[in-house]
Amino acid sequence: MTRFGSVVAAAIVALLALAPLVLGSFAVGLLNDVGIGALVALGLVLLTGVGGLTSFGQAAFVGIAAYASAWLTTTHGASPWFGLLFALAATGVSACLIGMLTLRLGGHFLPLSTIAWGLSISLLFGNIDALGRHSGLSNIPPLHLGTMSLTTPESVYYLIWPIFGLAYWFIHNLLNSRPGRAVRSLRGGATLLASVGADAFRVRLTLFVTAALLAGISGWLYAHTNRFVSPSPFDLRASIEYLLMAVAGGLGQLAGALVGAGLVFLVKNSLQDLLPLLSQRGGQLDGVAFAILFLVLLQHARGGMMGFVSRRGQGRPGAPTLPARRPVPALLRRSLPAPGTPLLAVAGAVKHFGGLVAVNDVSFAMRAGEIVGLIGPNGAGKSTMFNLITGTLPMSAGQVEFLGRDISTAPQRHIARLGMARTFQHVKLRPKMSLLDNVACGAYARTRCGMLASGLRLNRAEEQQIHDEAMRQLTRIGLADRAHEQAGSLPLGTQRILEIARALAADPVLLVLDEPAAGLRRQEKAALGELLRRLRADGISILIVEHDMAFVMKLVDRLVVMNFGAKLVEGPPAEVRANRAVQSAYLGANP
Ligand code: ADP
Ligand code: MG
Repeated sequence: MTRFGSVVAAAIVALLALAPLVLGSFAVGLLNDVGIGALVALGLVLLTGVGGLTSFGQAAFVGIAAYASAWLTTTHGASPWFGLLFALAATGVSACLIGMLTLRLGGHFLPLSTIAWGLSISLLFGNIDALGRHSGLSNIPPLHLGTMSLTTPESVYYLIWPIFGLAYWFIHNLLNSRPGRAVRSLRGGATLLASVGADAFRVRLTLFVTAALLAGISGWLYAHTNRFVSPSPFDLRASIEYLLMAVAGGLGQLAGALVGAGLVFLVKNSLQDLLPLLSQRGGQLDGVAFAILFLVLLQHARGGMMGFVSRRGQGRPGAPTLPARRPVPALLRRSLPAPGTPLLAVAGAVKHFGGLVAVNDVSFAMRAGEIVGLIGPNGAGKSTMFNLITGTLPMSAGQVEFLGRDISTAPQRHIARLGMARTFQHVKLRPKMSLLDNVACGAYARTRCGMLASGLRLNRAEEQQIHDEAMRQLTRIGLADRAHEQAGSLPLGTQRILEIARALAADPVLLVLDEPAAGLRRQEKAALGELLRRLRADGISILIVEHDMAFVMKLVDRLVVMNFGAKLVEGPPAEVRANRAVQSAYLGANP
């Protein structure tokens, strides 16, 4: 955080701490509502703003928790603190089930499905006898701390806001950690995550459950401060209000949740005072006013209020927290196979795209310590071949063996974890994340801290190891001095080199590079060649697609030439250069 940012944060905390001393009970009650709403919005900033999963059903999770605790405490006389555990269990299990059923849906189907379950759950509340149907549950016991009962707005205020503070701290820590970087990479697609050995579906599911649990804490607070629950505060309209909070505050930053919740409650209260003056049916018009507010925001202020404050719009969530400088042991490295041992064997690989045969019965092998080049005209099937080897695409037929294992049908992330790291012809980096964070993603499979440990900051030693490893790889490619800049600020050619650093952070046995030199200037190409030779000397094997013939011929030990999906020839560079078929198919057209 910047110095200015810390001062502002400290001022906000101090104001919040003193507020009940100067404000009346009505205003304190309003602030309590803001805190309860901001917890849900915090989950939505995380889910929608960071993870890219839009939920129109978040109020349902608030409701599940509120009803769970209300039911347990009213019918069984349990303490509200037991109610909290029960509410979180109910919310967590529901989110897990709903997530497993819907999170594989792509495109617009996922947000649509959230409307569906959001609607059905709130309808359910109104139709279950044990939950009091439409009249709800009343006489819910208040929260208590020891023997002190929190019945006044002022007393419960000092529970709600510390809980919000803790949740904020937790999510802030989480975002700047191993699982947080995976969450921030979700928008880059499942292939990006799988290429570093992560399971995008699991990351989405844990993210979804985390956001639901925040809604759950909110619901529990709601039930025990209002002391009454009924279906309507948990319906679709409420869900949209929560989403509006997140959007109005700014989906790009965690503080947006707080700002947005404040704004929505302020507008809502003013409308309740103003609208009845305008028309007799004014009470029903606030939905329309909110809809207009939503549209205006989407048209003119996508970054929300925080977007104006930071003037960076959708900036990165949270501030870069550097782990404290303490010496930690470096991440463990795997032992590389002895040079010359068989490493990769492709046998009869075939890939159909409908009627098109992109890869047609291609076989080749490579040994540890080699640099092998895959060349051929545009559209020859080279990138598709790479996708088959790395498990990014399933093969139509054929077999691939890596380190003596059959990986023909293995999922991409398993192949990555075996030690095959790749870069992409169409760069897959997170442009708003720093160079350091992008490279740190590469070490995902070598580290283990999960969401809970990261949120509670029990991950410091491991974060330090990841940081050191990422810096080591950035130094290796000569970009260490730009570690904290955004990856998107680099020229495209340099972004390709950054992808190599991310691949290296995985401690690979085999590097698979798709056109790494494209877009580089002459000296940069020379530096890249030098880097790749050094990597080979360190025992890393390299499979590379490259169009610059001068570059490839100087670099590789062997070449495999593809044309129209099939293998044309294979051999040392000089032999391939002299080959007639290659000259006419490829070099002739592109001297
Ligand atoms: P190269 O990398 O050698 O330029 P590609 O492997 O990208 O070639 O493409 C080989 C052929 O397969 C091209 O004709 C391309 O249009 C086609 N192709 C590649 N990917 C797909 C896909 N996902 N769906 C359909 N056709 C594809
Ligand atoms: Mg290609």
